[in-house]
Amino acid sequence: MPDQNIPATDLQPDGNDDSICPKCGDSDITGGSVDIEDGTALQRCSCAACGASWTNVYDFVGSYLDSDGEAGGESDGTV
Ligand SMILES: [Zn+2]
Repeated sequence: MPDQNIPATDLQPDGNDDSICPKCGDSDITGGSVDIEDGTALQRCSCAACGASWTNVYDFVGSYLDSDGEAGGESDGTV
C-alpha cells in the first residue's frame, strides 16, 4: 500500500492553480475552513468529481496598506 505513504513534502511542483483538483484537474472542488499557522494558511479541499481530498498551502508574502484609517484624518490638500 505505497499509495498511503505520501510524505508531507509531496507538494505539486506546478500547483499554482488552487481552483482545480490536483488529482484529476476538475474544477468542481469544495474548499473547507482555513487554518493559519505561523503565516501559513492551510485549507482543506475536496473534489466532487473523483473524491480526492487535499490541503492547499498558502504562504504569507507580505502586506500593503489599503487605507491610512480615519483616526486623525484631517482633510488634505485644502490648505
Ligand atoms: Zn478530482
